[in-house]
Amino acid sequence: MQGLDVYADLRLKTSMSITDVLIIGAGPVGLFAIHQCGTLGLSVQVVDSLPEIGGQCTALYPEKPIYDIPAYPEISAGDLIHQLEKQASSFNPSYHLGYAVVALNKVGEHWHILTEDGASFQARTVLIAAGAGAFGPNRPPLEGIESYEGASIFYMVRHRDDFRDKRILIAGGGDSAVDWALSLSDIAAHIGIIHRRDKFRAAPESVARLHDLAEQGKIQMYVPYQLKALEGSNGELSHVILSHLKGSEDLKIETDVLLPFYGLAAELGPIKEWGLELDGQTIKVDHTTASTNVDGIFAIGDVASYPHKLKLILTGFADAAQAAHAIRTYIYPKKVFHFEYSTTKGIPSA
Ligand code: FAD
Repeated sequence: MQGLDVYADLRLKTSMSITDVLIIGAGPVGLFAIHQCGTLGLSVQVVDSLPEIGGQCTALYPEKPIYDIPAYPEISAGDLIHQLEKQASSFNPSYHLGYAVVALNKVGEHWHILTEDGASFQARTVLIAAGAGAFGPNRPPLEGIESYEGASIFYMVRHRDDFRDKRILIAGGGDSAVDWALSLSDIAAHIGIIHRRDKFRAAPESVARLHDLAEQGKIQMYVPYQLKALEGSNGELSHVILSHLKGSEDLKIETDVLLPFYGLAAELGPIKEWGLELDGQTIKVDHTTASTNVDGIFAIGDVASYPHKLKLILTGFADAAQAAHAIRTYIYPKKVFHFEYSTTKGIPSA
């Protein structure tokens, strides 16, 4: 799986080469589409707003077993993504992770794909495998929070060592909040965890360790508190104000770093502005080709809708196969292609 260092390296990258297919979304369906396009000789690049591949499987339920993937009686969502990545790797895909695509513009024959960070890509076709939309952090509703993001407030930990000797507050009660409180407690100057209630929604053994470290004075628990306000200047936090849920006095905590871990939310967002015919939060497609109403844009997986569509991974895999064949015909309209099984064709770059 692509690690966070790869993410950091790629953030600065803008691809000038023209790819056949730009896939938006590295969920299970986008990953299988790499394979399907690759077997038909199409070049592919993949963009995802998350720092890791895998879409919902990685972000929401990596350890849950899935029971309806053909030929796997049981496979965890994380292992499924690992297998899909391995299967796609024969085609040397370029993953651009941590980029949310915000705009598509047709310039001459090609699509220019722009991300919110200003990176751009060029492609002959765009294949949208965006699931429920771009995942992003749930931001706490605090005045002025944007001015601290990236300097004192982070929604993910890329390099643990960046937080050495800092006074850290972590907000949230799930696995991310608890796991990072445990992990950073070794290197932080001070670490506190803020949660609205006594009960944490994390693995029981991690919660037990959290309570142990709190008893030893290595982690400060702020329960039942919630974030109320931020103080600081020029992007640097100085204090975080916490309000007590049962009416006791506010607390003002000296803080260098705040890590709010309130989960992820998906948002179709800019996709709604691309002139695509929508059906609620999905894009209407012709399911035989995955083509949308916009010439050269195709959609597959959870984001694509057609009559009686089942939002399942296996349905998305079939969508990807249909789309790859249709895209090849779209790019090479005059060529005659003969259908070949993978057993006949093999894997070109293997
Ligand atoms: P996603 O997995 O949603 O991936 C879409 C990706 O696109 C995301 O990574 C997102 O960040 C990215 N993206 C979106 N918009 C943009 C943008 N503008 N720019 C850049 N990137 C963007 N299905 C089954 O078949 N069997 C099961 O047992 C099963 N169990 C499930 C259990 C849970 C708890 C959940 C939540 C879902 C389950 N599902 C199951 C559903 C399954 O996970 C989805 O059908 C599948 O993930 C859809 O894959 P996808 O690739 O279409 O979209």
